[in-house]
Amino acid sequence: MKQPSAGAQLAAMRKPKAKVCPVCQIEFLGIGRRIYCSSACRNKAYHLRQKEFIIAGKVALQKD
Ligand SMILES: [Zn+2]
Repeated sequence: MKQPSAGAQLAAMRKPKAKVCPVCQIEFLGIGRRIYCSSACRNKAYHLRQKEFIIAGKVALQKD
């Protein structure tokens, strides 16, 4: 009897799930812990976070 390979078991665990991209609000099939529909959206979210961080830092500096 042949056992399923570790790769096949891992693939079964990584079944795509319907998710909504937080950047473009598009529904997509996400695999594993993926939260963005594409690398473009992931980059966009990253840059938005950086921007917010800089703005927050400026506000904090102005308050002082
Ligand atoms: Zn997206």
